[in-house]
Amino acid sequence: MVDLKSQYARIKDVVNESIQEVLETTAFVNGPKVHEFQKNLEQYLNVKHVIPCANGTDALQIAMMGLGLKPGDEVITTDFTFAATVEVIALLQLTPVLVDVEPDTFNIDVEAIKKAITPKTKAIVPVHLFGQCANMEAIMEIAKSNNLFVIEDSAQAIGANYTYSNGTKVKAGTIGDVAATSFFPSKNLGCYGDGGAIFTNNDELAHTIRGIVNHGMYERYHHDVVGVNSRLDAIQAAVLGAKLPNLNAYNKARIEAAKKYDAAFKDEKHIVIPFRSGAEDNHVFHQYTLRVTGVDRDGLAKFLNENDIPCGVYYPIPLHNQKAYLDERYNEADFKVTNQLVKEVISLPMHTELDDDQIEYITTKVKEFINA
Ligand SMILES: *Cc1c(COP(=O)(O)O)cnc(C)c1O
Repeated sequence: MVDLKSQYARIKDVVNESIQEVLETTAFVNGPKVHEFQKNLEQYLNVKHVIPCANGTDALQIAMMGLGLKPGDEVITTDFTFAATVEVIALLQLTPVLVDVEPDTFNIDVEAIKKAITPKTKAIVPVHLFGQCANMEAIMEIAKSNNLFVIEDSAQAIGANYTYSNGTKVKAGTIGDVAATSFFPSKNLGCYGDGGAIFTNNDELAHTIRGIVNHGMYERYHHDVVGVNSRLDAIQAAVLGAKLPNLNAYNKARIEAAKKYDAAFKDEKHIVIPFRSGAEDNHVFHQYTLRVTGVDRDGLAKFLNENDIPCGVYYPIPLHNQKAYLDERYNEADFKVTNQLVKEVISLPMHTELDDDQIEYITTKVKEFINA
């Protein structure tokens, strides 16, 4: 699905040199490399605070801890996301409230959020799924009028630009109260192991979170709150620091590859190509995900694999049907879209190194199966 080897080959010298610096200075935990990356990412995102941490799942958990959410508080999120989003809600003994998504963008449905709000609701977690920004303007509006926090799950959308209706552009992950991202190797800005970060423009929240990531310490050996140990490795920060200057080009390469896929599929009546809800840079294509209708989706996946084409089904089971997250309050009729999407979606290879021959081969094989 990704080609990290070819990507590394192009940046080998700068990455190796950056890692070498960490080895020479032996500042393996925190230290100048982590600080430098943090500052550069703050500047790139135009956000006041980036707090690096160990992975994207931790970033979500720590963001929720920082907001002071309490057991029993309800947190509304999407039924169609990676399990990490809902996992941390449950782990903190908050109550996940899963809602349906929009059929075109696959992002959380604003009307469904409104319907799910109760007096116990404290937060909304929109996920910018597959790299496309959720409808943040409407979500922030609902949050404001109901006094709710917004925690953006930006794990798949780093570098995407959200455009407000007045034309102002901001980076995904800088709109809500706080955001979480992941630097897992296959993400749009991936390191060579695990990594993550929390973003916020709120000084007080940033201070709270900086203590939480470090065992609840604000002063050495004074533990004011229950914290965790969640750090970004200096070696990973060295990799990320070397890759960050390429992030815009990486996202551009994904967008261009997506356009080529689109062109090949646009006349196929059994294929629905990815919908774009905004400007071109609103979607950074962490995944290129088709809906196939009237086609044996699993048969297509098998056929592609047999032809050496990797593909993925993100996600095959709606979260509200996962054993760990069953809840009596859920009613199948409220999950019409996710229940349908899990049967129809298929993601094709998407990365920064896709060339025209590869796209030609992949699209030809997809069409061959679909029209057989
Ligand atoms: C990858 C991902 C995460 C978790 O990130 P990790 O770094 O793997 O812990 C959370 N949410 C979404 C939507 C993701 O895609």
